[in-house]
Amino acid sequence: MKVALEFLYHFRCDNCRAWWSQADIEPKEGDRLYCPSCGELNTIDRIQTFRDSARNSCLKVVPDQC
Ligand SMILES: [Zn+2]
Repeated sequence: MKVALEFLYHFRCDNCRAWWSQADIEPKEGDRLYCPSCGELNTIDRIQTFRDSARNSCLKVVPDQC
């Protein structure tokens, strides 16, 4: 059996707060990308992993507030 790992990143626009996802990329802090909903140019200021979220109790509070 073969197993494949997919990296799926979720982005939230600072302007309109819409979410979108993109797989098989490797974003870095400081990267800039356009929101597909409103066209705002966003800059990645932090990349939070699932493990970081669990440690910071994102499972107990709204993720946007972590
Ligand atoms: Zn937007």
